[in-house]
Amino acid sequence: MRLVLVGPPGAGKGTQAQFIAEHHSVPKISTGDIFRANVSQGTPLGLKAKAYMDRGDLVPDDVTIDMVGLRLSEDDAKHGFLLDGFPRTVPQAHVLDDLLAEVGVKLDVVLELVVENDEVIRRLSGRRTCRTCNHIWHVDFDPPAVEGICDLDGGALYHRDDDQPETIANRLEVYASDTAPLINYYAERGLLIGLDATGPVDDVTQRAIDALRPLQHDQ
Ligand code: ADP
Ligand code: AMP
Repeated sequence: MRLVLVGPPGAGKGTQAQFIAEHHSVPKISTGDIFRANVSQGTPLGLKAKAYMDRGDLVPDDVTIDMVGLRLSEDDAKHGFLLDGFPRTVPQAHVLDDLLAEVGVKLDVVLELVVENDEVIRRLSGRRTCRTCNHIWHVDFDPPAVEGICDLDGGALYHRDDDQPETIANRLEVYASDTAPLINYYAERGLLIGLDATGPVDDVTQRAIDALRPLQHDQ
């Protein structure tokens, strides 16, 4: 299964990516996670990306594309992957098509998580992420048993710098101008499935798995 998740920031892509990737036994590739790991390690890539991320802007396509090209060439991505947060622009989508064509494969599906803006603002404002395993929690909607501590591995939870109100507003604008055109791009190619991403996390996961079932390759 070669799958892309799209949807506004806060739609639940990272949350669902983990469950869907496990269900289909494919690696979850999150460009946001890769950038954040590079920022925290102070790598040259992280230094390039940080200012854009802090403002809620997109990291330039050339930087992002090189990074994804390398990641997709790793062995674990040869037989399938779930992309979370890439592509985020139409030029990135073209490059993804080209990268896959070079190795003679195609995307199977693009799953759009559909959520209203008011709800994504509530979700982003209360998001907490585990510093060690990147698991995503929410202070009200999906709280850990002990405040500030990840149930899964005891890691400290942090509030992302780009989840502050002014940055959230910019990210939603960037989504509308730069990323939303991907919806038509993939709809025209017959790859898009729109998914109601409201309601409890488990319900959304079940809806996603049901929507993907007809596409499952023989396994
Ligand atoms: P994205 O990767 O699309 O930016 P996340 O998966 O990080 O979004 O989710 C954003 C926030 O919303 C997180 O705090 C997460 O716990 C919460 N969340 C995710 N799915 C739901 C849901 N179905 N209902 C309520 N909150 C959710
Ligand atoms: P995310 O974790 O998906 O919310 O991404 C966090 C930030 O990383 C975004 O606001 C961008 O600054 C950057 N980023 C992640 N993926 C991409 C991408 N495909 N293209 C450009 N910037 C990206």
